[in-house]
Amino acid sequence: MRKYGLIGKQLSHSWSARYFNEKFRRENITDCEYNLYPLPTLHGLRDWASDTGLSGFNVTIPYKTDILSHLDHIDPEASDIGAVNCVHIIDNRLIGHNTDWKAFHDTIAPMLSPQNTHALILGTGGAAKAVAFAFSKLGIDYLFVSRTPSNDSTISYGEALQKACTHTIIVNATPVGTSPNTADMPWHDFSPITDRHLCYDLIYNPAETAFLRQASMNNATTCNGLGMLHLQALLSWKIWNNDPHLKTDNITTH
Ligand code: NAP
Repeated sequence: MRKYGLIGKQLSHSWSARYFNEKFRRENITDCEYNLYPLPTLHGLRDWASDTGLSGFNVTIPYKTDILSHLDHIDPEASDIGAVNCVHIIDNRLIGHNTDWKAFHDTIAPMLSPQNTHALILGTGGAAKAVAFAFSKLGIDYLFVSRTPSNDSTISYGEALQKACTHTIIVNATPVGTSPNTADMPWHDFSPITDRHLCYDLIYNPAETAFLRQASMNNATTCNGLGMLHLQALLSWKIWNNDPHLKTDNITTH
């Protein structure tokens, strides 16, 4: 039996296990299982992964950046991003990848209009970094929006409100609004939001967050995180199965 799973601190919000187990059932893959592994710390990760008999695992809040120092190798893209959401275990060596950026890239690209040249990324965590990497690839200028802005590319929510007329892509890369706290919103003033805006929420549970509901009431184009979830999982699966179409050369040693 090949064992995969998801590590994070609190996993009750995650639909990853459901995605993989449905995939295994649908495709009659009988030698694999995918489980949720809530971990209070990354301390002892290697021994834990070996004892658990894992072949690979995904990584979620709050470990996407902290995990870097626990890995043997980091794929160049994940290294540039500074966040890992997929680990492949080969001969007891932990190899980190980032499939979030490509999943975000491929799901937002078909939704972009010519006016969508500047973006606001709400949050500064691992997912926000992957979103920024995708925007770089797409040639879209972006600013991070943080509760505690600390450098030139990061602004406050007050400053972001001033920029919302020109920055017509707004991405929620915070967990604010996730079930069960469905009334919460990372963004509160929707007066600048129009039909020229594209509002993307990485959250998929609920399917329509309060943020997306308000944006759509102002006629913005909206997208939730379900397509991204499925695509990052599929890309992880390809890595774990050494899909020949996936570039795995040029891996940097940590
Ligand atoms: P994270 O590392 O915990 O970062 C979240 C960021 O959100 C933090 O850096 C923080 O930025 C901001 N934040 C946290 N709590 C907040 C609050 N109460 N109010 C305002 N801002 C807050 O999480 P992550 O791993 O980046 O994931 C972020 C979200 O994306 C989660 O909901 C996750 O489930 C989702 N996600 C979805 C997919 C998908 O495939 N759909 C993939 C990856 C992630 P500041 O401290 O700078 O304000």
